[in-house]
Amino acid sequence: MSIIKLHDKHFKTYISAQEIDNAINTLVTQISNELKDETPLFIGILNGSFMFVADFVRKYNYNCEVSFVKLASYEGTNSTGKIKKLVGVNEDLTGRTVVILEDIIDTGNTLQEIFEIFKDKNLKQLKIATLFFKPDVFKKELPIDYVGISIPDKFIVGYGLDYNGFGRNLADIYQLTTQPTMKNIVLFGPPGAGKGTQADLLKEKYNLKHISTGEVFRFHIKNETELGILAKSYMDQGNLVPDEVTIEMLKDEVNKNIGVGGFIFDGFPRTESQAIALDEFLAEKGETINGMVALEVPEDLLIQRLLERGKTSGRSDDQDESKIRNRFDQYNSKTAILKNYYTVQNKYFGVNGVGEIKDITVRLSNVFDKL
Ligand code: AMP
Repeated sequence: MSIIKLHDKHFKTYISAQEIDNAINTLVTQISNELKDETPLFIGILNGSFMFVADFVRKYNYNCEVSFVKLASYEGTNSTGKIKKLVGVNEDLTGRTVVILEDIIDTGNTLQEIFEIFKDKNLKQLKIATLFFKPDVFKKELPIDYVGISIPDKFIVGYGLDYNGFGRNLADIYQLTTQPTMKNIVLFGPPGAGKGTQADLLKEKYNLKHISTGEVFRFHIKNETELGILAKSYMDQGNLVPDEVTIEMLKDEVNKNIGVGGFIFDGFPRTESQAIALDEFLAEKGETINGMVALEVPEDLLIQRLLERGKTSGRSDDQDESKIRNRFDQYNSKTAILKNYYTVQNKYFGVNGVGEIKDITVRLSNVFDKL
């Protein structure tokens, strides 16, 4: 699950692309069984139905024709002011079986207009199929022959449906949600980039809770907890601790701090499945990641920094160049791809991590201010 913003509103995932696909398969089976011996004309109602119609007809394996119409309002001369007109059906439909493919039917007002318009076209039969149906608000006495998924009266976007023009291109369906109240930032970068140092400075400035998964693990190791004993065997070699363990630990840390203004996540996520788990976990709380802010530092400089830190940090994984190299290998093979994960969500912000600490804090703050 994740949260997205369209114009001024926030939406969270509601119906997955896979569930939509399953519903379309069922509709195709039902309609094929009834109409395979004739050549139905499938008519999509624009704009919202374009995606549904494309997916539907691709799965329909019998003869059929496809067309689209648009209901256009124009100023009429009668007292109601608005009259609906169908744009796009020019062919003679006498004796045809027409199946209307609607993306969503809620009050049924559009459906009523469609019935009125097709009434005079001498069809053999008119069937209505809708991908989504809101039974709680449907007020008409009109037959709906095929329903994909019935939903409560929620405002949804995605899969052809829009909010003021946005969201039609989304593969999943999203529903309206409350505005997130936290500022959650992933502070990103390879080992030695300066995440911990900068997080310490930024957490004060922005009143955020800093969670460093590396530090939480080191705390457990020091206290010889079960988790610490498990984590130590991986950390000593510069390997990643397994996802299930790390994700559970991270969730615990977040849940211990409910009520804070937000989090700086440092050292988490480090794999794609951690990133997905974090998105889902935050979305369940109506929250989201505002951005990934990455400290960009060349690798040779990082190795020098880590060896230097190893002289005083007491961290065994900072003292041996082969372990440091392994941490970079882990970073490059499992973690670096997260840049792409956040870039596609327009949430990646790279910052030059070379220079004086205070100058880098200023660069980071410039990004934090905007998130
Ligand atoms: P750090 O202090 O962030 O450099 O982390 C030190 C070590 O802790 C890493 O090399 C891993 O062994 C382990 N670790 C920290 N965070 C994670 C994570 N998100 N996933 C897996 N292992 C982690």
